[in-house]
Amino acid sequence: VNRLVVVLNDQLDRDSPLLADLDASRDLVWMVEAPAETRRPGAHQQRLVLLLSAMRHLRDELQAGGMRVHYRALDDAPADAPAQPVASYLAADIAELAPNTVVLMEAGDWAVEQSLLETVREAGCELEWHEDTHFLATRGAFQRWAEGRKSLTMEYFYRGMRKRDHILVADGKPVGGAWNFDQDNRAAFGAAGPGALPAHPTFPPDRITERVIEAIVDGHGDHPGDARQFNQPVTPAQARLALDDFIAYRLPSFGTFQDAIWLGDPLLYHARLSAALNLHLLDPRDCINAAVTAWERGDAPLNAVEGFVRQILGWREFIRGVYWLRMPEYAQMNALGHDAALPDFYWDGQTDMACMADAMAGLLRHGYAHHIQRLMVLGLFAQLYGAHPYAFHEWHMAMYLDAADWVSLPNALGMSQFGDGGVVGTKPYCASGAYIDRMSNACSSCRYNPRQATGEHACPFTTLYWDFLDRHEAQLSGNRRLQFQFKNLQRKSDADRAAIREQAAALRSRMTPTHA
Ligand code: SF4
Repeated sequence: VNRLVVVLNDQLDRDSPLLADLDASRDLVWMVEAPAETRRPGAHQQRLVLLLSAMRHLRDELQAGGMRVHYRALDDAPADAPAQPVASYLAADIAELAPNTVVLMEAGDWAVEQSLLETVREAGCELEWHEDTHFLATRGAFQRWAEGRKSLTMEYFYRGMRKRDHILVADGKPVGGAWNFDQDNRAAFGAAGPGALPAHPTFPPDRITERVIEAIVDGHGDHPGDARQFNQPVTPAQARLALDDFIAYRLPSFGTFQDAIWLGDPLLYHARLSAALNLHLLDPRDCINAAVTAWERGDAPLNAVEGFVRQILGWREFIRGVYWLRMPEYAQMNALGHDAALPDFYWDGQTDMACMADAMAGLLRHGYAHHIQRLMVLGLFAQLYGAHPYAFHEWHMAMYLDAADWVSLPNALGMSQFGDGGVVGTKPYCASGAYIDRMSNACSSCRYNPRQATGEHACPFTTLYWDFLDRHEAQLSGNRRLQFQFKNLQRKSDADRAAIREQAAALRSRMTPTHA
């Protein structure tokens, strides 16, 4: 073997530098069904189906094109075999295959990347190293942007990217006269609800996916979710269909209702392209171009198109930059000193809180929750409850089809739980049940009252919201963006604050997980 080309489970881009210039007679592609993923405690069944099926599709395509692939499948090892890190499989195969060169590309996980590089060094092979061209900002470009800045603000990074790539920019200025249209993108549905929503596309499983589903039901049937309900793109062609479908049918209303929640409809106008994007089945440039073209043709309004572009060109690239800038210390951060394990309902959805039960039902059904359910229901509750931010990240990694270390740590540990103390956001996202009441129809069918913090019908969000402010008053009351909230807290009497503390303690003891 001349070159051993390592393709990780989230490097499935057919145009990646890894797959360019392959020589079928001398090179060997190396893929392993990431054991750390497939053995991850509580991994959503559909997450496993997605990872394995998408990899197997690439393997079969490469083999059909005449390429040799050294492939380690999940079922090659006994189900009870301990999970080995990817690097230990690579070390064993390097010893056996004795390649001259090992080809690696920047990974999506700091620890995986370190261990692969170390393995190649220890084996004494040549290393051929590639930047990951999937992303629009290189790690180096982000580092240069971040250098000397007191704080990292996504908005400034995003504006720079818009100007650099001339996206929704004319004569150096943002089209429409503003860099963002957030104020237009916060509508709730109102009492009448969303009405008829465009159907999301379906991707019936082919033979490869069917076989993976069978294997997951057999070996991991006790994990959350149901593999048989899997319905996600597993090839670039399917991912493109999903993108086109979003642009045609849901993008026009996506912006306006991007923060709305409606019970029983976990998908609404959302794109749900993140899993395909994060496996690199979809190119972010294609997403941006398709949305901008829709606006240019008058098929979608600017508030929707800009909101979508900001998520991909701005937020997604920004958090990747932060991840590589701040790892490995970032994973250890716990600014609020939270240490609780997540309540059981984060795994089984069994709770009498209507908003939480609904978000969990969607997550168990699809391995997905849209942005506002993630941040302002599932994430908010964990933060108010006092969950350990790394435990929340691990849960996020297990349950969501689109989670990868680089994307989950800054979003889950950082933005959602404020574990990083303000690296990606300037304040914790704390809100009471009143916010959920405003953005959804959940509270009207809930046994709790979002306006009550104490008493039998007190909303757990509202109790824990006041308790959160009370517990962190010394640390957070100086934050200018929280002034209003702390003023309201300080208006409460000592007796009220004591009653809130008592109610919060009772809630916590009731919710302590049985299998922490
Ligand atoms: Fe959620 Fe509280 Fe509203 Fe119930 S009352 S749906 S727990 S916010």
